[in-house]
Amino acid sequence: MEYFIIANWKSNLALSEVEEWLDDFEELYEKTGDVTVGIAPAFTEIVSVSDGLNQLEMYDIILMAQDIGEFDKGKHTGSVSGYHLDDIGVEAVIIGHSEHRKEFNESDELINQKIAQALKYKIKPVVAVSNIKQVESIAKGKFNNSELVIAYEPLESIGGGNPAEEDEVLSFMAQVKKVLGDNVATIYGGSVDSKDVERYLDHAEIEGFLVGTASLDPEEFVGIINRVSG
Ligand code: PGA
Repeated sequence: MEYFIIANWKSNLALSEVEEWLDDFEELYEKTGDVTVGIAPAFTEIVSVSDGLNQLEMYDIILMAQDIGEFDKGKHTGSVSGYHLDDIGVEAVIIGHSEHRKEFNESDELINQKIAQALKYKIKPVVAVSNIKQVESIAKGKFNNSELVIAYEPLESIGGGNPAEEDEVLSFMAQVKKVLGDNVATIYGGSVDSKDVERYLDHAEIEGFLVGTASLDPEEFVGIINRVSG
């Protein structure tokens, strides 16, 4: 099984820090067939990450964004559309992260509009959820669910230091598959680090990880990748 491991840098790492991160990452990272790696920087750093990855000839890394506008291109000042993300090579996008849902007051309907925009531009939506109601709302969008990745992130586990019990994660993922079908991919996020990731491995339902805090340190992030692929 191929795992999808995403670095969610949140509102961290500006230009000089990105360059340093990429240099360190390139020295440590060894591509394996078992893992696909995505990097989700702040909007302003996406192009520098893309340039940096190209310079380092790391063409296997998936360029991501942390959000997408609910509107298509046009008269929507301040919105970043799928049209623009696609144009700079973004292949996947985090939608509905719990911090974004809360701080930007996002409704479930809005999340579905964002999923639709991502799909329109063939950008893979990685939709973060913390409860089953949010999953049921995604079902109402009548998307081709095999094109979605659902990231289960229990609220109390986000921020480092409090990983969820694997049984709880597995039971949530079983519910997700019941609602959205077996073809939907399910990954876990919440305090994942290189030591703790082990406990989530060897379960077909846990197909990857959304990593916040630990992804800011390239050594720790590569540690997770190595643990998963090893
Ligand atoms: P964390 O964040 O790894 O710091 O818990 C995960 C996330 O919020 O995506």
